[in-house]
Amino acid sequence: MREYIRESILERLAAGPVMYADLAESRNRDCRARFGQVFNSLRADGLIKKVWIGQYPHWALASGVDENEVLIRRIEENSRQDSEGCINWLGYVDPRRGPMIRVDQKPQSIRRLLWAMNGREVDYQTTIRCSCENEACINLKHLKKGSRKDKAIGRKYSIVHRKKLADAQRANGKAKLTMEQAREVRASAETNRTLAVRFGVSEALISGIRRDKSYKEFHAGLFPGQQPANNPHQQVAA
Ligand SMILES: [Zn+2]
Repeated sequence: MREYIRESILERLAAGPVMYADLAESRNRDCRARFGQVFNSLRADGLIKKVWIGQYPHWALASGVDENEVLIRRIEENSRQDSEGCINWLGYVDPRRGPMIRVDQKPQSIRRLLWAMNGREVDYQTTIRCSCENEACINLKHLKKGSRKDKAIGRKYSIVHRKKLADAQRANGKAKLTMEQAREVRASAETNRTLAVRFGVSEALISGIRRDKSYKEFHAGLFPGQQPANNPHQQVAA
């Protein structure tokens, strides 16, 4: 018959979290029952606590549990290294924030957690990205620090930004046509060529205006496909 001593159980847990079945070490019904008694007394005394590693409940010392260590084990158990050297997170990957894990019910970026655990600074303006451009990668060696600004590089101008640029060009007299002339083009039934000659611009520009690519009317329509109430051009044309 196996003996279960409180001290030896605590000693085992001091080395790190262990699952209940591994802690009991025996499947024998009597052994399990006696283990249960000792285990419950430790629990009642508040000496041990449950921690989750992956989807499995483990038991750990209530005091002196290194939360980071538990977290690292959770992360390790749910990721796989591939031949490229990337450590791929098998859990949820947020399109914007990357690999995510729940800590105290709150979703957290694993890359940021690892970066911070490694003693490196992460403030609000700092982003942690992967140089390998693998969405799911959490390999510290592949992570690099960036700034929120980096994300904007290479991104298409937003419609608002393009309007501001166009307004600035018009204000500087660099625009080929005025907004009024562009509306005239849209209202006209004449050919692109005729209008191009009349306004002294290319046919491509006339075509762009007619397809609403150039000299866009900026109006606030809440629903795509629905005519917004504040679009003068569309109302005239209808
Ligand atoms: Zn990687």
